[in-house]
Amino acid sequence: TTRIFSGIQPSAGSLHLGNYIGALMQWRTLLDDFDAIYCVVDMHAITTAQDPAELRANTRATAAQYIASGIDPSKATLFVQSQVPAHAELAWVLNTLTGFGEASRMTQFKDKSARQGTDAASVGLFTYPILMAADILLYDTKVVPVGDDQRQHVELTRDLAGRFNSRFGDTFVVPEARILTDTARIYDLQDPTSKMSKSAASDNGLIRLLDDPKRTAKKIRSAVTDTEREIRADRQAKPGVTNLLTILSAFSGTPVAELEASFQGKGYGDLKADVADAVVAELEPVRARTLELLDDPAELDRLLAVGADRAESIARETLARVYDRIGFVPRS
Ligand code: ATP
Ligand code: MG
Repeated sequence: TTRIFSGIQPSAGSLHLGNYIGALMQWRTLLDDFDAIYCVVDMHAITTAQDPAELRANTRATAAQYIASGIDPSKATLFVQSQVPAHAELAWVLNTLTGFGEASRMTQFKDKSARQGTDAASVGLFTYPILMAADILLYDTKVVPVGDDQRQHVELTRDLAGRFNSRFGDTFVVPEARILTDTARIYDLQDPTSKMSKSAASDNGLIRLLDDPKRTAKKIRSAVTDTEREIRADRQAKPGVTNLLTILSAFSGTPVAELEASFQGKGYGDLKADVADAVVAELEPVRARTLELLDDPAELDRLLAVGADRAESIARETLARVYDRIGFVPRS
């Protein structure tokens, strides 16, 4: 079966609606048809400053949210990145194949470093996409299910795989991104032209999986819309309303066009009420199950260790192949 790999950074305790719709819901549907490897990418998270105790808690919480969202650890390989050293080792090799200018063109780095100030941004943040390439290539990944924001990083991964293969001989599988464009990108409720993000500026625009349902409903009721009254999708003119329709469509399975028709003659208040109901109904069980899982951290750690063992056995082999091709002398 086809191998897929994806990951989320434990850069916050709770994942958000963008992670859920753009990543976790897709991951769940792919479980049965693919050999899925899902990682909590803690080494990516430290590219921006993390408090150690929080990082540890957030890593477990992120893994728990994967499982609570329906990522069954007996069907997928689920593990924590830093527990498999080959990620850092392959990233080093790929660093040496990446052009400085090539890395400088990555828009996520430009966005994030602009927010932090270029002096505050770390070299790790700069080389983030190269570590991501290592994550993907270690597992002979064929398909990478990610949100639209990761498209450029998967492109870089393809370039690096191709470059290595042509310089050193066929070694890596060249992966493809799998992006559900229409429904893949969820925007901030207060600033619907920027994507919803764990590291967002405003709290009110962010729907967290682990928030209290009342708070979630309130945030949706105060989502920014526009001064018209018509409920229709238009990314340019009506980003707020479009975002709400996208969310409702993701949870109801009803295409946006049908939703537009069904809201004819109704107001923004009606739309928001329906979105709030749908989101709360979907997230409530995820939240409850996450809290249950976090009640037994030893069992959670055990599940993650099983995943790390399986991941490590694949990653070790790939890295050995790479070291051999490069000309490193194996330890006897
Ligand atoms: P950070 O702000 O720390 O970068 P993030 O919210 O962007 O956090 P990531 O861990 O970088 O989350 O991304 C995890 C996955 O979630 C990726 O597949 C990414 O494409 C997806 N994702 C993140 N934000 C959104 C969003 N707003 N809409 C859809 N998918 C998203
Ligand atoms: Mg991100």
